Amino acid sequence: MNPRVRFAPSPTGQLHIGGARTALFNYLFSHHNQGQFLVRIEDTDLERSKQEFTNQICESMKWLGLTWDEDLVFQSQRTNQYKIAIDSLLDCGEAYRCFSTKDELDKIREETNSYSYPGIWRERSDIEIQSEIDNGNPFTIRLKTPESGETSFDDLIYGTIKVEHSEIDDFIIARSDGSPVYNLTNVVDDNDMGITHVIRGEDHISNTPKQILMYKTLGWNVPTFAHLPMILGQDKKRLSKRHGATGVQSYRDDGFQPEALLNYLSLLGWNPGTEEEVMSLHEIIEKFELSKVHKKSAVFDEKKLNWISGQHLAMQSNKTIISDIKLVNDTWGNSESHEYCLNVIDLMKSRSKSLVQLMDQSNYYFNDPTEFDEKTVRKTWKDGTKDIVESVRYILETIDNWEIKSLEEKLKSFMEERELGFGKVMKPVRLAICGTVNGPSLFAVMDLVGKDACLRRIKYAINTL
Ligand code: GLU
Repeated sequence: MNPRVRFAPSPTGQLHIGGARTALFNYLFSHHNQGQFLVRIEDTDLERSKQEFTNQICESMKWLGLTWDEDLVFQSQRTNQYKIAIDSLLDCGEAYRCFSTKDELDKIREETNSYSYPGIWRERSDIEIQSEIDNGNPFTIRLKTPESGETSFDDLIYGTIKVEHSEIDDFIIARSDGSPVYNLTNVVDDNDMGITHVIRGEDHISNTPKQILMYKTLGWNVPTFAHLPMILGQDKKRLSKRHGATGVQSYRDDGFQPEALLNYLSLLGWNPGTEEEVMSLHEIIEKFELSKVHKKSAVFDEKKLNWISGQHLAMQSNKTIISDIKLVNDTWGNSESHEYCLNVIDLMKSRSKSLVQLMDQSNYYFNDPTEFDEKTVRKTWKDGTKDIVESVRYILETIDNWEIKSLEEKLKSFMEERELGFGKVMKPVRLAICGTVNGPSLFAVMDLVGKDACLRRIKYAINTL
């Protein structure tokens, strides 16, 4: 049977890195196994859930390319299904009404030093219960859990997990206002949606035995579970807002491309078992196996993300990059021709980690540098530099055939004749033309920005530095 999996975000915030990784692993697993990937919006917490977050989550998923195969399911539209399940549990005596008040429960907790509910209303007579109802006393609904034995499940990542039933109390499945709790809605939905594999964060391991008890009590098939390892920040604490950018949107705004972010996320807890870590989504789908996901927490490493991102950028066609850039900033490069911009990308893509960095570092292809870093100037522009650069300018002025080859020939023979090293000549010339001493082949840059701009920039540097 082809698997059906789902990503079930609560719309109480935007899609963050952890959620995106969960969504991705579900997507990879379903695509690797020709299954279906669904999305369910768990919006039962009416106070914290916001439509705006649902929109943001969906937008981020679409941007990442994690598209789902069926219409979104909203828990807020499924109240009736939850009611049917609760009523059926009550009818067959597998759940019961509990009239214990908060004060009463607090007192028991204090006395027993435990949060476990001792089953006070578990075996009450119908008459007793009816009289409480008639008196209008509020009640919660609790599942009658087994008193002995154990529940165990084989987690695809964490292995066999066993919990003694003595550790599971008669937990609440509906609050006193009638609203169902997460452990109930989750089970009802996963069953109705035909979910075969529940792939989610390891923080849900503790909910799983309770959910399994619910499946069994309701007479439903129990899905297979796979809990994904936690993602930590560099300080080995759970990744959170404290660690800076954790929202997918901020990576998009910083000019990371979806392929790169997905590739990096895929490596958080999984590795392809080969040396090669830079992969397209297609390759990741082919290689992905849940059995190769490890339980050890994964550490979010910004440096590695940058590296992967740079590798993706370098592999991409200039045309793809320019259209991605336009999504981030549609005015980029508008002062020059499309052809010119493609050439800029060609020179810069292997030197940038993201689209935004590529744009930032490409400023000198469009504007004359007018500000120079003091420290760089001190290191590059020394006594005698001015004369050398003057000579270079003179030579450049005489070149009619302005192209890489002639520029290279003329400047190299100048250096040889004057017995000047590359650093002494080309570094200051680069500083004048680019405003920085790093970058791709200077001959290629000069060729692209053109003779007039090069001469004008060198003149400016000579006059100001
Ligand atoms: N809404 C839950 C969460 O965001 C989903 C839990 C699950 O996948 O079962 O953590």
